[in-house]
Amino acid sequence: MRTQPFGATGVAVPVLGQGTWQLPADEAGERGALEALEAGVERGMTHLDTAEMYGRGRAEELVGRLLARRPRGELFVVSKVLPSNASREGTRRACERSLRRLGAERLDVYLLHWRGSYPLEETMRALEDLVAAGKTRFVGVSNFDVDDLKEAQRALGRERIACNQVLYHLGARAAESELLPYCQREGIALVAYSPFGSGDFPDERRPGGALLARIGRAHGKSARQVALRFLLRSPGVFAIPKTARREHAEENAAAADFDLSDDEVAAIDRAFPAPPAGTPLGSI
Ligand code: NAP
Repeated sequence: MRTQPFGATGVAVPVLGQGTWQLPADEAGERGALEALEAGVERGMTHLDTAEMYGRGRAEELVGRLLARRPRGELFVVSKVLPSNASREGTRRACERSLRRLGAERLDVYLLHWRGSYPLEETMRALEDLVAAGKTRFVGVSNFDVDDLKEAQRALGRERIACNQVLYHLGARAAESELLPYCQREGIALVAYSPFGSGDFPDERRPGGALLARIGRAHGKSARQVALRFLLRSPGVFAIPKTARREHAEENAAAADFDLSDDEVAAIDRAFPAPPAGTPLGSI
């Protein structure tokens, strides 16, 4: 699996990681999801994205089960505080709860899930406190467009924003015009969430879907692998597809090991055009 520095942290992180939102809630489904996550990890997708919100803590518990089975230090674990908990003290308490569910002493990155009503300065200070206390190595944000990101950067004293996790898939490319170049200049990793559009991946009956499949066939790859590879074409971009199925995890992990030609990139760009510059970042 190809790795690249995770923003200015200097840590080499695989370009493909794994999401944990909307995993099955029943015991059999969870066992299958755990197997899928482990298959992904074995193929190099060691960046695991979770949040206190997902399954009201169950996703973190599942990641905790995986952590317990894997060698120490193998996984790069990211979790998030809900905006409604993101006061100075609330952030600390939320992080402690997440660590307990994960069975971990420290996170790799702790993010503000999206901007809420607590002043950013307060949350950023709380995140810095957590680094100082050894509860997380790095801090970051999610769903932040350039202005919010600048404000978050200004609010930090000792730490830097490691990453901004944003909606980025073929049908939602607003991040490309301003946010991505800004993140690249500032050394902030851009992590693409919902890289398959969550439940809305273009199937082969649609012209764009047919194009992805055709390009995929030329490389011995699937349409989804082509879509992921397209998102990963820019330096500093990571993607975190979610799957609860082992075979899908294996397929997703193999999306980084081939190259698209310039003509293929241009054809995908035409079939799934980016919106005009200035289009606000979407979210789900
Ligand atoms: P996604 O990864 O774009 O798509 C997930 C869907 O694709 C699921 O239905 C999954 O079904 C299917 N899928 C995955 N791999 C497949 C494959 N190889 N072949 C066929 N189907 C496949 O959606 P997402 O869960 O919204 O986003 C990914 C992660 O980003 C989340 O899990 C979460 O960690 C993060 N996220 C963050 C935010 C935020 O606000 N920061 C918001 C949304 C998501 P199967 O399970 O059946 O494979």
